[in-house]
Amino acid sequence: MSSALVGLIDDLFPRARDTALNADSARDWKPDRPNVYCRRCGASAGRGSTTDKGCARCIDSRPAWSDVTRLSQYGSPISTWIVAMKFQRQWTWGTWFGQQLAQVVRDGGGGGDTGDTVVCPVPMHWRRRWLRGYNQADLIARAFAKSLDLPCTSLLRRPKATPPQTQVVIADREANLRGAIAARPIDLKGCDVWLVDDVKTTGSTLNRCARALKQAGARRIRVAVAAVADPKNADFKIL
Ligand SMILES: [Zn+2]
Repeated sequence: MSSALVGLIDDLFPRARDTALNADSARDWKPDRPNVYCRRCGASAGRGSTTDKGCARCIDSRPAWSDVTRLSQYGSPISTWIVAMKFQRQWTWGTWFGQQLAQVVRDGGGGGDTGDTVVCPVPMHWRRRWLRGYNQADLIARAFAKSLDLPCTSLLRRPKATPPQTQVVIADREANLRGAIAARPIDLKGCDVWLVDDVKTTGSTLNRCARALKQAGARRIRVAVAAVADPKNADFKIL
């Protein structure tokens, strides 16, 4: 590429060019091994500090999902790629996250789900989807499902537009989601569901989704996310 063209791209799309170049460095990037985080809530945890019942952060909580699979803690470089996917229309990151998550599941001995297992993205209200042009969770979920040879279905909907969770103080996040997420009229009796999103923070949205899926009859909900963020982390404010 000529330097003049690089300069022009820099002027027009400076951030897009930076993150696109990072796609090369991603080839050497590896997702977290399962023993560096709590499988119940997804938070980073040292070896030996978690049990089947969770870690110090989640031991008193009762999430409607059974476990969390993540690629990484939210932070550089995955935060750059997530921002590129969400706000710079670099959709290919969504496909890549989904494929990476599927590989993590296979490496952990999973992926042999048969019969009644379905992949479902965390839904986005139609207005936000229309403004953004896509639902990033949908991009990840579709690639994840395709890699594991599972069906991908929008089992959930968002009938009510609510402010983004990141713009709501943590104490009000549960209330912000009241009536915002509902299952479609599908009988999920006996089904296992992989619930997929880009980032988990407090888990309020994922828990609302998981509860709605359970109410529709789902047997087990497993969460798969690209990154798990500490809501107290300043980096997260960008989302
Ligand atoms: Zn935990």
